[in-house]
Parts: sequence; structure tokens; C-alpha cells
Amino acid sequence: MSALNAHDGGAGITTPVDLRSDTVTRPTQEMYEAMRAAPIGDDGLDFDPSVRALEEGVAGLLGKEQGLFVPSCTMANLLAVLAQTGRSEQVLLESTAHMFTSERGAATFTGLFYLGVRGQRGAMNLNEAEDALKGGTHKLHTGLLAMETSHNNAGGTVPALDHMAAVYRMAESRGVPVHLDGARLFNAAVALGVAAEEMAASADTVSVCLSKGLSAPVGAVLVGPSATLARARRLRRMLGGTQRQAGIMAAAGLYAVQNMVTRLSDDHRHALMLSTQINQLGLAISASQPQTNIVQVDISKTGLDSLTWVDNLERAGLRVRPWGADRLRCVTHRHIDDDDIHRAVQCFRAVLKTGPDA
Ligand SMILES: *Cc1c(COP(=O)(O)O)cnc(C)c1O
Repeated sequence: MSALNAHDGGAGITTPVDLRSDTVTRPTQEMYEAMRAAPIGDDGLDFDPSVRALEEGVAGLLGKEQGLFVPSCTMANLLAVLAQTGRSEQVLLESTAHMFTSERGAATFTGLFYLGVRGQRGAMNLNEAEDALKGGTHKLHTGLLAMETSHNNAGGTVPALDHMAAVYRMAESRGVPVHLDGARLFNAAVALGVAAEEMAASADTVSVCLSKGLSAPVGAVLVGPSATLARARRLRRMLGGTQRQAGIMAAAGLYAVQNMVTRLSDDHRHALMLSTQINQLGLAISASQPQTNIVQVDISKTGLDSLTWVDNLERAGLRVRPWGADRLRCVTHRHIDDDDIHRAVQCFRAVLKTGPDA
């Protein structure tokens, strides 16, 4: 039983199992130690050595020239867009991509149009992408194409390497740069059993989140070619994303990318356990087959909507998030063990039993 979800011995109160997101993960003792010992400077004035070590470390891991530490993956994605496009161009995205569904507010600041392309399990349809890339006098010029892996809204799916390579070749042949939203890139790498660098090879710029399954407290890194990153660095200052003694956070991030990747397979195993056991509860609810650490549960046949399910599960001792009206999203992470999965399934069983009339 992990510390975060431990039973409160004396009072008999049980902490809920928290499957809302892998962002709830706390730093490890080793991360706190790395933060305490981190050499720091002023990353706004000249540089911070621990930030530099993180930026160079992640760039090296992903086979890119440079890296840039930013407060969030949302900002990394925005900088990738701003650094590689001009005004009145369009950005092509798979239509359920996080950058399209959750970060499209960026488009209202950038003077760009975000165009969604249909996809399957997070992989954009190649014919539609090609059509949008072709352009024409009555169409906007595409300034950037963005992919995502693992794909959040598609249930943590991992598009095949050859699909990513095909998209990259298609964009490259038309001179369009490619960004990879790799908030959970290392989950995707573990799922495919390849180095993250192999996926990064199908993109010019890549963003990775340090504060999700990797358990660092704050931040993300954008990597790519030096010229693009120099623009991103200037833009980061304009947006207020330049931070001073940021090495304290970067040190935890560097520890995370160096030490927390292989254990992600535990999260994937727990997601599979959760999915399998939910699917054994009966036909009213069905769980997606996870490739990584995300499980979507379709509750549309239960007569209860997702918000009601979330409330009822919370009362039973499980926290999840509504994903549209018909689905729930469950995310496994470092603070979830076998026993927590067992408890989570019991909560689903209990809510199913009470049903819509309870
Ligand atoms: C979480 C997430 C982001 C945003 O990351 P923040 O660090 O929370 O801004 C971007 N893209 C994807 C695919 C994500 O899952």
C-alpha cells in the first residue's frame, strides 16, 4: 500500500484511490535530495547550471540540438507553434489532439488557425492530412503539423512508428515543420519498447512533460534545432515563462528523465489490470484496452451520466474524471499499487450495483 493511499489506521478512514491523473504524483526522496543539492544561478539573467543540465540532457536523450525548460507542456506546445509559424497560417492537428481540444485558446493569441484532421486511435488520417497540406489559393498555408503520443483523448494510445514517419515525410516534402506533443512520450516509448529518440526522429520539435508519470513537481522541456530553440527562448521571455532559480525544479526533472522512465511499465500493467477487471464486471460498462497508463470507461449503458458516476465513485472511495458525458478517464501512476486497483474495481462494482434508481 503506497503512502499516499494508505489506510488511516486508528480512525478507520480510507484515503480515496486517486486515478484522476498522473499529475498528482509527488517527488521521490531522491528528487528532493537532487533539488536540495542543485547548483543554481539566475536563468533570466544569464543561466542556471541545473536548468542547462536538464535542457542538454533531454535534448541528448531525444537526439535534438537544444532544449528549453518551460513551466508547463502547454507553454512548450505554444512556443513550438509560435517559433515555427507565421501569422495567418494554419496548424494541422488530429482533431482530438490535446493541443486542439484543450490548448486551442493559444490560437486566439497567435493569429493562427488550428485545423483538425480526423484520425483513428490518435493517428491522423493520411489522406486528409495530405489534402490539408496541399493548400491552394482558397486555403490557408500550413505552417506546422503537430502529432501527439501517447494520445490522451484517444485513451493513451500510441500511434505506430511507421505512421509517424509517414506523416513526417509527407509534411517534410512540402517544407512544413512537424511538432510532437510528447507530454507522455516516455509512456509511449515504454509501450513500444523503443528509445524515445526513435519517435522524436519523426518530428522537428518535441515537448515532454516532467510532472506527469515521471513524478517531477513542475515543468516541461521543448527540444529541437538550435535556430528554432533560439526563437522559442526569446518568445518564452515575452510570455513571462523565464524563471530565475529554476534549477531547483530542473534538478528534479533531470532526475526524473534519468531514473523514472523504466518504472512506467508498472503503471501500464496496473492500467491493464484495471481494464481487465472492469470488463469482468458485466456488460453495462466497458473499459478500453490500454496501451499505456490511461483507461477510458464507457458508462453510456448504465442510465447514469459521467458526472453522476464521478460523484458516486467518489463517495465509494475512488476519484476519476468525467471524459465527455459517456465516459470516465482513469490514469494509473506511481502511487497506485495492486491493492489500489482491487479497491478501484470494488468501487465500480458498488456503483454499478446501486444503479440509476438508488
Ligand atoms: C497534460 C498534457 C499537456 C499539457 O501539459 P501541462 O504541463 O499540464 O501544461 C499537453 N499535451 C498533452 C497530450 C497532455 O496530456
